[in-house]
Amino acid sequence: MRFAWLKGGHQTQQREVINQEDIAKNQVIRECYCHNGHDVLTDQISFNGHPGLTLKLRSQTQEGLLSISPVIGDRERKFLDFERRPGEVVEICCPTCSEPFPVYNQCDCGAHLVALFTSPNASFSQCVGICQRIGCLHSELISERNLRLYSRTYYF
Ligand SMILES: [Zn+2]
Ligand SMILES: [Zn+2]
Repeated sequence: MRFAWLKGGHQTQQREVINQEDIAKNQVIRECYCHNGHDVLTDQISFNGHPGLTLKLRSQTQEGLLSISPVIGDRERKFLDFERRPGEVVEICCPTCSEPFPVYNQCDCGAHLVALFTSPNASFSQCVGICQRIGCLHSELISERNLRLYSRTYYF
């Protein structure tokens, strides 16, 4: 894992690029919210028994859902009612309020990274970043010490 220390304001954040090797750490996102506090983890779509992060996708021509595995490092994603066009940049929205997740950075591919918050107070110091480009699997984990990640072995 490659990581850099970002100094924003008066707190230090750890920004990590999530790699497939991270799957070995058995870390699962157990909380994930939009900026309005809506929970995006849903049992409707699960990955190895873990509720998926289900997001609304919006492009010029279509609207559908994307569910992402909550297991850190697991690249599995499921599209629902959305025709996957690799390279297309889409809006990633909350499935409850339909508001786009806030952009916090630019991805190496030129599209933007949006923040999915891992605590209900919608702090950019505790979030998961995913890219708006279909087919780009770049994702990041931005955390403080108290990020709530649980080992898979303690779940179920
Ligand atoms: Zn929402
Ligand atoms: Zn990207």
